[in-house]
Amino acid sequence: MRIDAEKCIGCERCTYYCPVEAIHVAEREDNPKKKRSWIDEDECVECGVCFRANVCKPQAIYQQELKWPRVIRKSFSDPMVEFKETGVPGRGTEEMKTNEITGRFKKGSWGMAVEVGRPAVGARLKDLELIAMALAERGVKFEPRNPVTFLFEDVKSGKLKPELRNEKVLSAIIEFEVKPEQLKPVLQVIKEMSDKVESVFSVDLISHPEEEEKGPALKIVKEMGFPVYPNGKVNLGLGRVLNK
Ligand code: SF4
Ligand code: SF4
Repeated sequence: MRIDAEKCIGCERCTYYCPVEAIHVAEREDNPKKKRSWIDEDECVECGVCFRANVCKPQAIYQQELKWPRVIRKSFSDPMVEFKETGVPGRGTEEMKTNEITGRFKKGSWGMAVEVGRPAVGARLKDLELIAMALAERGVKFEPRNPVTFLFEDVKSGKLKPELRNEKVLSAIIEFEVKPEQLKPVLQVIKEMSDKVESVFSVDLISHPEEEEKGPALKIVKEMGFPVYPNGKVNLGLGRVLNK
């Protein structure tokens, strides 16, 4: 996103809307008594919030043409944009919350996700790559219908296309499946990564309720020292069942 310096009157209204604080205010070069705003393009994740908020009276905020690899910022940060390869808006995935519709994660295995980034901080994709490569070393299978999987140069190693490493997004979700015997090593890797990456991340784990009654996943997660926030979600028949 950009701000037309000629049109901007420096009212600062847009600055309050940016979730990563990429909009700054400066003195005008042509008149130091007046202000203008500018966008730090390295920090901007192209979420479109400042534009959609419609707070700029002189309409100084505009969307420049986004080319590869920058366009990836918008795909992962603007909920109004559909991810081309998956056909899903937002972060481009149906993800595990709709598992009873999609049936991605079968009985006998667990679905996991690492959500890298959050509003106010965002994430560099190089951090996502570090986590993905460490997970790949433990033999996890990345979800083929997740947009992050399309960013890999090599899906087996979790290595990203190199031009993407410095791109910044609001957040992106690595999704994968683990077999019961993989859970401990995977959690260990995730723990190690918390010291190695700068971006914040959280971890999701999904299991079938009847398996959970036997207690394995939660028990292992707690043993590994992770704080647990159990969460149930039921879709009320509004989704088209793909899991037949
Ligand atoms: S597009 Fe989003 S990240 Fe970029 S300046 Fe606007 S609000 Fe901030
Ligand atoms: S809202 Fe518009 S005029 Fe006001 S500071 Fe932002 S870009 Fe400039």
